[in-house]
Amino acid sequence: MRTEFHIGIDDTDSRLHGCTTYTATLLFQELVSKGFKPIDFPWLVRLNPNIPWKTRGNGALSLHFSVESEQLEEMKKITLTIVKETSDLNQRATDPAVAFVKGRVPNLLSEFSTRALHDILFVREARQIAKATGVETHLLKGPRGLVGALASVGANLSNDHTFEIIAYRTRKNRGSTRRVNQDSIRLMDAMYRESTFNNVDLETGRILICPHGPDPVLFGIRGEDPTSLARAYELVVSEEQIERIMIFKTNQGTDSHLSCRRRIVALQPYQSTVIVGVVSNAPRIIRGGHAIFKISDETGSIDCAAYSATGSICKAAVHLIPGDSVVVSGGIRVRRMGGLTLNVEKLEVTGLANAIRWENPLCSDCGARCESMGKDQGFRCRKCNLHFQKASKSPKSEPRAIRCGIYLPPPRAHRHLTKPASRYEFHTPKLSDASGVLFGPTLAPRVAVAIVS
Ligand SMILES: [Zn+2]
Repeated sequence: MRTEFHIGIDDTDSRLHGCTTYTATLLFQELVSKGFKPIDFPWLVRLNPNIPWKTRGNGALSLHFSVESEQLEEMKKITLTIVKETSDLNQRATDPAVAFVKGRVPNLLSEFSTRALHDILFVREARQIAKATGVETHLLKGPRGLVGALASVGANLSNDHTFEIIAYRTRKNRGSTRRVNQDSIRLMDAMYRESTFNNVDLETGRILICPHGPDPVLFGIRGEDPTSLARAYELVVSEEQIERIMIFKTNQGTDSHLSCRRRIVALQPYQSTVIVGVVSNAPRIIRGGHAIFKISDETGSIDCAAYSATGSICKAAVHLIPGDSVVVSGGIRVRRMGGLTLNVEKLEVTGLANAIRWENPLCSDCGARCESMGKDQGFRCRKCNLHFQKASKSPKSEPRAIRCGIYLPPPRAHRHLTKPASRYEFHTPKLSDASGVLFGPTLAPRVAVAIVS
């Protein structure tokens, strides 16, 4: 009998060596060469990036096949062998985990995966889910990779997804400076700007497709569809040998970690979240040029930090005033002196308050601006020396230095999951609140014109 078979892998990499995408690539290519039939590209699933102990991008991998039942044991054996061979087990922080899911992916697993995008999940929960769904799990060392291995299989990529084509270095070159022709990357970016994203940071000219660590990735191009990526790849001139390439389906560039709206009172450290609120304190600028402002909803208030590295977010936040309506997305952090802060990853300004300046009255004789004589003392025209006891200040609307719209960080400050400006035209964001209920697509119509990048 034929059945779906899903393999989830996490945490085979370490700070020094390896890369879980490389493990998945070797495994996928080995299985395909043995005649196993994939039903999709390998998935590269990024999970909640605001978990501090997951500093390397928090990605997990899953492979999806259609298999004859009697082949399952062989497939498992190949998987565990390759995971073992490519894992850096000597590293203390590397705890590879593998999950085998036979048949259709259970709903419980999908829900678990959705929560792994914006919440903190613990190994204990992962074990419970595995048990409840009958998922077979293998730990090569500690249990830390279990959450990712399960979440990568349960990921929901059907609403929105992108692709990444990754080129890997040969073993002898790993650790040395990457030799990729930069002009060819710029040409590729110019030719495929519609269908790829984050190749180059245009403000600084910085190349973004090459990582800098000792991992085996030479470069990775992100984009909307596999065909464009394969063509874009052909334009990049590598001056070192490429060992192999692979195309992944992924949630990168989809903002999928910023899909859960929460009330301020319910916030927990390290969640990724969306808050709909009103600015309640004017921003203050702290050392380094970062802007801190307070927002409130009906349940409480929280400080929001727009770091200067977020570019237009920080520049816009400086101009907020109390009463402005905002939708703020980002990660929850614990402040050193206690209390929570939201690190802003996306700022949507949905309504601007009236900025009022109170002006002294004009002199009825000469028309000049009067000066105040002090509290309740009336006003005086300096020129005519006339006194206006009963006159009062009048409100005047000031023009605002900020527009409604969505403010995003520059590409060089993007996280893997950050949705780039170029993708807003095609993909309407959907938000759900913590109970899973969809709430208004506040973003879509204005986005194309209002994004300030
Ligand atoms: Zn006067």
